[in-house]
Amino acid sequence: MKIIKLKSPAKLNLYLKVVGKRHDGFHELKTIFERIDLADTLRFTEMVNGKINIQCIHPQVPLGPKNLVYKVADLLRRDFGISQGVTIQIDKNIPVAAGLAGGSSNAAITLMGLNQLWRLGLGQKELVEYAKKIGSDVPFFLYDCSWALGTGRGDIISPMKIETKLWHVLVVPKMRMLTPKVYGAMNLKLTKFGDDVNILTRYLGQNDVVKIGSLLRNDLEGPISFLKPSLLKIKRKIEALNAVGTAFSGSGPSIFSVIESRKAAVEIYKQLKRQYRQVFIVKTL
Ligand code: ATP
Repeated sequence: MKIIKLKSPAKLNLYLKVVGKRHDGFHELKTIFERIDLADTLRFTEMVNGKINIQCIHPQVPLGPKNLVYKVADLLRRDFGISQGVTIQIDKNIPVAAGLAGGSSNAAITLMGLNQLWRLGLGQKELVEYAKKIGSDVPFFLYDCSWALGTGRGDIISPMKIETKLWHVLVVPKMRMLTPKVYGAMNLKLTKFGDDVNILTRYLGQNDVVKIGSLLRNDLEGPISFLKPSLLKIKRKIEALNAVGTAFSGSGPSIFSVIESRKAAVEIYKQLKRQYRQVFIVKTL
């Protein structure tokens, strides 16, 4: 029996600018994705019975057709007339519905895993096309890079040749944020910040941690804070600690800080761990 085991990492958005609303209802984004070392593990086992079987003990992860991993397996099976089935075991470490794109990452890794397991022979371009059909955050995870610029819905990926690895403390408050609601609460007239993505990219290339920290930004902070004012309070508390910058990731509720060293990250982690249950030290992967 063929078995494939793969890591499925999370992402942070170091920068997220909402450029405008598109005709298809999605928003046009400019975002910097960072791959981090917080990861799920996916195990693919060939099944002769032709069924798609998802195994995961996390209570918030659906096991049926709503699971993005199931969607990928079902789509590929139909398109390629595959008669075999597969069991996909998901070991969840990435908090769910947190703005860390755990589900999207699982979907991308499943595209790669099944391409191998079922010998589909799909190239990078074709994998990216499938990824776009599943969700806006999926394509990023198909690229072998730590950093990338995402445009369009966040699904057009330009990998960045940047060696910098950053330390972060990540807090995931126990609050449910629905991505469509956050975008729905967005007032585009109120997002009049300049576009600093090129400056931030330059500082990233120079590994200038302090300047990187000063340029973190997420246009969704307004709607997130409007919908859940307590989240902004938590962010302010974290900002008061000794980090160089703090921001929400994606549509929240995850909040991360950029920190100058692992030692400083451990200190900040200890303080936050006294108050919050889901706190992690993470690094660029
Ligand atoms: P989004 O911004 O797309 O909501 P997110 O990073 O905030 O993404 P995810 O962890 O991807 O959050 O989960 C979003 C929703 O997707 C959850 O409500 C969850 O039930 C559902 N979901 C479907 N498949 C998965 C999966 N494999 N892992 C985690 N969640 C999944």
